[in-house]
Amino acid sequence: MTMSDNLFQTFLDRFPADKSRTFLIERDGTERSFAWLLDRTGRYAAVLASHGVVKGDRVAAQVDKSSDVIALYLACLQLGAIHLPLNTAYTGDEIAYFLGDAAPRVFVCRPAHIDAATALGDQNNVAAVLSLGSNGDGSLNDQAASATPMTDIVSADKDDVAAILYTSGTTGRSKGAMLTHNNLGSNARTLHSAWGFKPGDTLLHALPLFHTHGLFVAINIMLMNGGKVILLPKFDADDVIERLPQSTVLMGVPTFYTRLLSHPQFNKDVTANIRLFVSGSAPLLAETHDAFFERTGHKILERYGMTETCMNTSNPLDGERRPGAVGPTLPGIEARVCDKDGNVLGAGEIGVLEVRGPNVFKGYWQMPEKTASEFRTDGFFITGDLATIGEDGYVTIVGRDKDLIISGGFNVYPKEVEEVIAEYDEVEEVAIFGLPHPDFGEAVAGVIVAAKGETADTDTIIKRTQDKLAKFKVPKRIWVIKELPRNTMGKIQKAELRKQYADTFTSPAA
Ligand code: AMP
Repeated sequence: MTMSDNLFQTFLDRFPADKSRTFLIERDGTERSFAWLLDRTGRYAAVLASHGVVKGDRVAAQVDKSSDVIALYLACLQLGAIHLPLNTAYTGDEIAYFLGDAAPRVFVCRPAHIDAATALGDQNNVAAVLSLGSNGDGSLNDQAASATPMTDIVSADKDDVAAILYTSGTTGRSKGAMLTHNNLGSNARTLHSAWGFKPGDTLLHALPLFHTHGLFVAINIMLMNGGKVILLPKFDADDVIERLPQSTVLMGVPTFYTRLLSHPQFNKDVTANIRLFVSGSAPLLAETHDAFFERTGHKILERYGMTETCMNTSNPLDGERRPGAVGPTLPGIEARVCDKDGNVLGAGEIGVLEVRGPNVFKGYWQMPEKTASEFRTDGFFITGDLATIGEDGYVTIVGRDKDLIISGGFNVYPKEVEEVIAEYDEVEEVAIFGLPHPDFGEAVAGVIVAAKGETADTDTIIKRTQDKLAKFKVPKRIWVIKELPRNTMGKIQKAELRKQYADTFTSPAA
């Protein structure tokens, strides 16, 4: 029993006694030991403290991926401060909003952005703006070099906030999800055990470190496991293929898997050392799952979660990994499907998924009303995802509530149409969405990316769907485009597509 519920202490308790053991391997092969990680963390904690960071203060960071980012995260935990990672794609205007909203004590930026970041920091009363590069450069590292590593760990309660992650928020302003030491700790422990992690595992890490998947799923599990991580700066199919033979686990978004499948060197031999492929953050098409199995003999394990809840469900390590489904709830987590008024629906019925458990966040930063409106009085969080739960407890995500298309009064779930079209040989990728329509309210429409070397005739595709889909689900228009708009987590930006084609059926020429 530790005296404090600080997550840093939990990790520390699980580090190997021999701190010279490897925690992480850089892309160039440099090995980083636990001693290195603890020293760097302690130095960062000392630097942050020298700028006045105390328990509960926010430390915002918009930095490129590197092993130092893990030390920065741990330094925040060590101080009882709140780690606030920001997507590297955010623009200056967006950063200004986050600094104003979260009021961090310190903002850590990329070295090239120091002037603009300092100006933004001044406007928002940030006490210090530091920089951190991905090659050991930046003022945070300069100051760390002469700092005395902090060894004390600030005591934290399990319900104290450890991190704030802003949700991507396609409507309205981004909201800061407050995650506690226990939200992160309990979920990491649960996943570590559910996915059978053992000393000796090596995780190949190609996800960003500013998102729940790359940081709170992947890194937290490996901190719980006492290593080992191969850290790549980003997903690059060649790089991943080169390092799969030295790894035992890969965690990815579905686009990792589709890109690997379209790589000529990706085969069974390359994956022979891997014991587990995990997918999440966006739906993995059953078609991709099946194609991956055919090529490699591996069944990708799909799980489901979100920034606000960490991971909720997972297909089993041992047992049926069902293509197109995200598995039963993880131990200690409850899920139900409800209608808009919160009435619980029966097995197999489509409604909004609600979840409850130690993984569910504390609330949105400084938005008590928004928080209250997204929780039921009995503590269930309304995820906004449409889903079914089968008799056997397997959850299937049908799509985001806001992506549901209502055409002529009928509900159309984009995923159902996407699964049909994705089967066609000439189609590489597909996204279905609703557009305003004068007669139907909304019309089903879509975009496809043609498979390599194929030409796709959209009229033929539309005609073919008629065999499989009720008339109201058949797309009225499909466009062929070069690439689907995706965010850094591989999520298709349907709001962008809706905007781009908004006038298709309503303009006088339509
Ligand atoms: P984020 O907060 O960025 O992690 O996004 C969470 C959202 O991603 C969820 O609410 C789902 O809509 C979606 N998502 C995550 N995992 C899956 C999955 N396995 N299948 C379908 N959607 C998923």
